[in-house]
Amino acid sequence: TRTPVTVTVTGAAGQIGYALLFRIASGQLLGADVPVRLRLLEIPQAVKAAEGTAMELDDCAFPLLQGIDIFDDATRAFEGANVALLVGARPRTKGMERGDLLEANGGIFKPQGEAINAGAADDIRVLVVGNPANTNALIAQQHAPDVPAERFTAMTRLDHNRALAQLSKKAGVSVSDIKKMTIWGNHSATQYPDLFHAEIGGKTAAEVVDDQDWLENDFIPTVAKRGAAIIEARGASSAASAASAAIDHIHTWVNGTAEGDWTSMAVVSDGSYGVPEGLISSFPVTCADGRWEIVQGLEIDDFSRGRIDASVAELAEERDAVRKLGLI
Ligand code: NDP
Repeated sequence: TRTPVTVTVTGAAGQIGYALLFRIASGQLLGADVPVRLRLLEIPQAVKAAEGTAMELDDCAFPLLQGIDIFDDATRAFEGANVALLVGARPRTKGMERGDLLEANGGIFKPQGEAINAGAADDIRVLVVGNPANTNALIAQQHAPDVPAERFTAMTRLDHNRALAQLSKKAGVSVSDIKKMTIWGNHSATQYPDLFHAEIGGKTAAEVVDDQDWLENDFIPTVAKRGAAIIEARGASSAASAASAAIDHIHTWVNGTAEGDWTSMAVVSDGSYGVPEGLISSFPVTCADGRWEIVQGLEIDDFSRGRIDASVAELAEERDAVRKLGLI
């Protein structure tokens, strides 16, 4: 049997945590033959709720689940972690300025970066889900100087999956018929879901759809504002789909992308496509042998250029703001 993989989940008692933990424990994160040990991090007042979730995890009698430990201390929670899912974050509340939000999250992601640096396993892979995810990932990464920067990623897979779903409906094809979807930029309303490189049956999705008005005025805003539409309909934010995307993100990173396809991940820029080096921005990436690589050589037309630049400008602003606050 394989050695167990240690997975640390923060915000474990939250909505996404509740949808995520059962899928990890059942083997969907890493594979049906990989035993897992869970380390859950929560703030002190939510530890009891996390204990309740752990009781339910016990009651599922998952054969792969080899143990659950719960902490309110980041240093201990990340000890020996091979995979870290950073879900817990400070939500934006009424009247909160963006600077306040970034500052509150700096107080969470700085110590978590330090704890990862101090105690995580050598092969640690980090996915930040908690918003503002890209910038939270940047803060954590900057405080983990001994961990290769490429191990810190942020989630745009939910946006990617939302784009697949919208396009599949419009084009009347199955999601599995769509290849090479890309989300560029920030996981925010400025994100750019790109149909000029996505393919359906060897043609670009933009050609297949042949409807620029739909692409600009329906598809892009629907994908970018889907989170708000779900809150409006469900009366609660998207949790199961966010958890599902987190599972997909790690599964793809570890197990690889299929030949002739790629995925979207927010990763540290090396300057590709004019994205300033060091920003954690979403790109088309391929994964193999547990490593991601930014897809190179795509032609970017003026429409796409403008959209990418706008989202990347927002990321640069967020980085400058956390720099000014002394968080990085
Ligand atoms: P959720 O579990 O619903 O969401 C957690 C985070 O994921 C939020 O920052 C949320 O951002 C973000 N997120 C990213 N993508 C999505 C998406 N598509 N849909 C919804 N959310 C998304 O929040 P809860 O409030 O239910 O739970 C958070 C938990 O985290 C609480 O139990 C809290 O105690 C804990 N926490 C733990 C910390 C720690 O471990 N140190 C620190 C802070 C909180 P957005 O706000 O934009 O919706």
